[in-house]
Amino acid sequence: MSEARPGLRPLDDALAELLGFASVLPEVETVATFDADGRVLAQDLVSGLHVPPQDNSSMDGYAVRCADLAQAPATLPVTQRIPAGAAAAPLAAGSAARIFTGAPVPAGADAIVMQEDCELHDGLVQIKAQPVAGQWIRRAGEDVTLGATVLASGERLTPASLGLAASIGMATLPVRRRPRVALFSTGDELVMPGDVAPADMKPGAIYNSNRFFLRALLLRLGCEVTDLGIVPDRLDATMEALRGAANRHDLILTSGGVSVGEEDHIKPAVQALGTLALWQIAIKPGKPFAYGRVHDTHFIGLPGNPVSSYVTFLLLVRPFLLKLQGVTEVATKSIAAQAHFDWPRADRRREFLRVRRNAAGGLELFTNQSSGVLTSAVWGDGLVDNPPGRPIAHGDSVRFIPFAEVLR
Ligand code: AMP
Ligand code: MG
Repeated sequence: MSEARPGLRPLDDALAELLGFASVLPEVETVATFDADGRVLAQDLVSGLHVPPQDNSSMDGYAVRCADLAQAPATLPVTQRIPAGAAAAPLAAGSAARIFTGAPVPAGADAIVMQEDCELHDGLVQIKAQPVAGQWIRRAGEDVTLGATVLASGERLTPASLGLAASIGMATLPVRRRPRVALFSTGDELVMPGDVAPADMKPGAIYNSNRFFLRALLLRLGCEVTDLGIVPDRLDATMEALRGAANRHDLILTSGGVSVGEEDHIKPAVQALGTLALWQIAIKPGKPFAYGRVHDTHFIGLPGNPVSSYVTFLLLVRPFLLKLQGVTEVATKSIAAQAHFDWPRADRRREFLRVRRNAAGGLELFTNQSSGVLTSAVWGDGLVDNPPGRPIAHGDSVRFIPFAEVLR
């Protein structure tokens, strides 16, 4: 296969250049740990204690000294009861302590015997199994040690990381401010659901689908969205929309009108008001893509075809918005997977095929890979990232980008 046409930018180059334009938003805000899911940490979090704070039992049972149980079974007096949350007195030699999961291990005890291996009669416990030193004890600091960095600046918080932050006592967290994004769709053919019933749609009209998924994708990435609706296919209207959104936002994101047709006004409008830095990327779907600036505001123009718009958002806009928020790891992760399909006529552009995992652990291809068929993105649970011009045969190893990876 021949090289992609000159003038089309390879995706990795375009992405590197795009990320170069994204400087981290300087503002840091303090939010409740409860509300920090998906936000980006602006400082390292260093623990002021061990987690767990002291050795504790991971079983309901009896705390013992192994030296007392060299011969099992053996019978010991039960000298204290330690539920979770209680303080424990030291364990005297030749005795046992009733203990419950999460309760501190008394000083002197070196093992827990689970209650299933014990029998209690009249304040005496018979231990039937010989314990091994350390068994069923969770050590102080086995999760986090005092002074350890538990979460680093630039990490995007997940439900698990909120729990970890809470476990070291953080009620609030320092995070980057949310990016402010203005969103509009271009296209005189576009109609909003709810405005016109399906039966009343005029010839040539289509519903605006991009607006819905782009807004939802932006919200998932932690952005504040100003939804400017639909802008008509006219240069003056496009310029007015861009001018109105500039300066009050970090990014203006548009869909449609980025090709070079007479009805495509994005390119001249951005050039008239600012600068345009990127144009046309060697990927399929998604060739038309534009980055520029309008005054102090970043501008990104996505293609109008819904799948192209969706895929370019995931591959380019997502890392850009993560970088703005200070995320250090913005690369889209792919994993090796096995193709359970044939793709004999690969495009000379790098392709992102909509596929779905099957029960056999392979990937199946959606039958229609057209950039207008949004069903493929709903049916699919990810993308195969296929290098330019490489045919795929059933059984080949391919790179798979799960949507779950890029939809958060
Ligand atoms: P464009 O990039 O403006 O040339 O549009 C390419 C194709 O995508 C055309 O078929 C448009 O009708 C369609 N399209 C553009 N914007 C949208 C949108 N917001 N929702 C659904 N389809 C769109
Ligand atoms: Mg258009």
